[in-house]
Amino acid sequence: MSDLRVIAIDGPAGAGKSTVARALAARLGLEYLDTGAMYRAVTFAALRRGVLDDDAAVAALARDVTLEVGEHGVLVDGVDATVEIRSAEVTRQVSRVAANSAVRTELVARQREWAKVRGGGVIEGRDIASVVFPDAELKLYLTASPRVRAERRVAEAGGDVDEVEAQIAARDSYDSSRADSPLVQADGSRVVDTTGMSIDEVLGAIEGLLQEQE
Ligand code: C5P
Repeated sequence: MSDLRVIAIDGPAGAGKSTVARALAARLGLEYLDTGAMYRAVTFAALRRGVLDDDAAVAALARDVTLEVGEHGVLVDGVDATVEIRSAEVTRQVSRVAANSAVRTELVARQREWAKVRGGGVIEGRDIASVVFPDAELKLYLTASPRVRAERRVAEAGGDVDEVEAQIAARDSYDSSRADSPLVQADGSRVVDTTGMSIDEVLGAIEGLLQEQE
């Protein structure tokens, strides 16, 4: 795995991981993978098939479903689900699907394969540095104050800041306390607190960390 050039980015909801990962990938000439979109896509498919309450059926679905997660959006069994995977219903249910170990085993294998065929990439999620790519070239834990994270989500997708703050706090708590691959600051991860930082400042800080690694 060490012949791959992987930048791993983890952190709680709304920390700016996707924005930073996309911009960093462009600067480094790498591709970018949003692994949260994969868990959301499985959740969307499980809701559509009405099997959300059946862990074994959700696991079987994760193994069978065709997922294409890319710059253009997300295709689930060939159908564009880019918008639907961000729905309130998927957001409410995704942490539960992500706590299903058989689902994780399948999606982690797909994430490793994705990187293998590309020689690496900028990969963001919750367990990328701790589980999926512990040998990544750079491991980042991006965070920000809960209020700022909620404000960023509201700026992107609308809603009430207090409500969104409560929802992301609940999701973070679920993701951090699950038995399999909880959200953690992995060994060797560099913490970047993006509260009060612009995207360019965050990218500058990360480029500084990359240079330190050389
Ligand atoms: O990144 P995003 O907020 O879209 O992720 C949605 C959910 O997917 C997270 O709340 C978490 O439950 C799950 N997830 C995960 N492991 C990852 C990425 C996301 O468990 N690597």
